Amino acid sequence: MLSIITIGDPLLAKTSALVPDIDADIRKLVERMFETMGTRGIGLAAVQVGEAIRLFITRAPRDQPRVFINPDILETSIEEDTLEEGCLSVPGLYTEMVRPASVRVQAWSEKGRPFTISADGMLARVIQHELDHLNGILFVDRLEAKRRKRLLATYDDKLRL
Ligand SMILES: [Zn+2]
Repeated sequence: MLSIITIGDPLLAKTSALVPDIDADIRKLVERMFETMGTRGIGLAAVQVGEAIRLFITRAPRDQPRVFINPDILETSIEEDTLEEGCLSVPGLYTEMVRPASVRVQAWSEKGRPFTISADGMLARVIQHELDHLNGILFVDRLEAKRRKRLLATYDDKLRL
């Protein structure tokens, strides 16, 4: 098990670097990330386990486990969805967020194969959330300032308990 860094850790605000080689070390990291995520989450970015590289994994409901290395969003829909989001780096905080309903993404698999995927529903949501991590953005950063302040204030109260 790897440890997951949480909100307030400056690494979460960093832009992750491109993965230069998809090698055995990367495949080992992917394996350990899946172990670490377990059944607690549906997505995890490498930066959350202290490796600021452009890699994330997903296991969305009713979907197979997926690995995205050096991902790029090719297209986002104009249509939006409101879904509840949470984050293993902000444990215990969940809030409804509006984001594009579907995305088309290009990335490389852990086997070094390029692929593109069109996703909607929870998978589209997880992909956007994880891509934000690679750019140093937490989901709470995307909330309107007042709402973020209010949410984090209650969050801090919970942490103090
Ligand atoms: Zn997250």
